[in-house]
Amino acid sequence: MAGVRVLIKFRDLGDDDCYGAYSHRRKVIEIDKTLKGKDLHDTIRHEMLHAALGISGLAYCESYEEEAIVRCMDEIFFPAWERFSKRFKEKPTLGSAQEK
Ligand SMILES: [Zn+2]
Repeated sequence: MAGVRVLIKFRDLGDDDCYGAYSHRRKVIEIDKTLKGKDLHDTIRHEMLHAALGISGLAYCESYEEEAIVRCMDEIFFPAWERFSKRFKEKPTLGSAQEK
């Protein structure tokens, strides 16, 4: 990611509320080994967003709510982008691919 190697490791994270974690110091994403399918996909994407913000330096701004930004991208930007991409592939004209 941006020329930085980030490892993805799978282990038992124990806590039911903790699906994944990113350590910027170690450049490691840890994912709970029980996750499958969409939860696994979405959790890796979520932790990759944390990694991108850490690597870019944005995570170190003095006033900054990282979890809110990651959730905005997770829950608003990417679902919208995926709908747009799907429609754009079907009919690649701007008129038919407007995002709502
Ligand atoms: Zn998070």
